[in-house]
Amino acid sequence: VSINKFNTHIIPTRFEYHTPTTITDAVELLKKYENNKILAGGTDLIPKMKQRLLEPRHLINLKKIPELRGIEEKGDKIHIGALTKLREIERSKIIQKKLPLLHDCIRSIGSVQIRNMGTIGGNVCNASPAADGALGLIALDAITHIVGLNLEKEVKIDKLFMGPGHTILSPSELVSNFTVRIPEEGSGGCFISVGRTSLDISTISIAVQMTVKRSRIQVCRVALGSVAPTPLRLPDVEEHLTDRKVTNVLIETAAEMASDGIKPITDIRGTAEYRKQAAIGMAKEAITTAWEKAKEAER
Ligand SMILES: Cc1cc2nc3c(=O)[nH]c(=O)nc-3n(C[C@H](O)[C@H](O)[C@H](O)COP(=O)(O)OP(=O)(O)OC[C@H]3O[C@@H](n4cnc5c(N)ncnc54)[C@H](O)[C@@H]3O)c2cc1C
Repeated sequence: VSINKFNTHIIPTRFEYHTPTTITDAVELLKKYENNKILAGGTDLIPKMKQRLLEPRHLINLKKIPELRGIEEKGDKIHIGALTKLREIERSKIIQKKLPLLHDCIRSIGSVQIRNMGTIGGNVCNASPAADGALGLIALDAITHIVGLNLEKEVKIDKLFMGPGHTILSPSELVSNFTVRIPEEGSGGCFISVGRTSLDISTISIAVQMTVKRSRIQVCRVALGSVAPTPLRLPDVEEHLTDRKVTNVLIETAAEMASDGIKPITDIRGTAEYRKQAAIGMAKEAITTAWEKAKEAER
């Protein structure tokens, strides 16, 4: 069949549909059927299937597994189930109050309709370098919980990505949830995204999270999106800013380092040169704003 890749009414190729009700059942199905794909909100997967970019023979829908969904504060950590809708995260008072950076990242994703369907697990596991939710979780140093058959493991989220559309997950593993440590007093963050339209994915994006103690940056994390094959954390920039008092010179050198540390490509959303240049201005603004918010929260 000749496929017009822009006709989204095309029906995908034949597949078998499974609706497990427990995590154990889901991973057993993943193990049993090799050519599988997990279905969460479907906002990334279904368009790819319609365009024949992916042709799984088995779809394992996670929607009937309640243990994969929800936001819970436990001690100094917040747990977010992989199947939690983006809209639920955006509207959560816990997230708004304790993880405002994540709230800002999620709020910028697509439209309300997309956020009502899409999940945080799907945003991360789709492994797009432009994933806004993933970028927020990277800047918050989230831990990813992975479940397989007789296997559970934890991975720092920035170690999850291998390239566009590829994670370290094997075909028989799924992400069950994410854990984020609640930032200490004196913390602030900033997310900036530049895109062609409000619905389009980012041409370039940045998330910065920091903690300030006695006017010095104590903890700092800097992550950029759409600038490399994976969402990118920049440890050199973080190190440059850590244990330092913020001055204009410090911010300017950090912003130059951020631009030097990225490997953007030219695509339909922007050129590599544009992204290199934009990174400088965006890093300056994001670091300054995060610093100001953290200083304000320190008082
Ligand atoms: C019009 C439009 C606008 C968009 N705008 C943005 C945007 O601005 N920013 C942005 O970041 N994204 C955007 N997206 C992309 C998408 O909506 C999000 O990435 C969304 O969070 C994907 O979640 P989902 O539940 O729909 O994933 P699905 O499509 O169900 O799954 C995506 C991938 O992840 C895998 N997967 C899902 N859950 C798990 C799990 N628990 N464990 C292991 N693998 C899993 C699936 O097998 C699939 O490969 C947009 C999409 C559209 C259609």
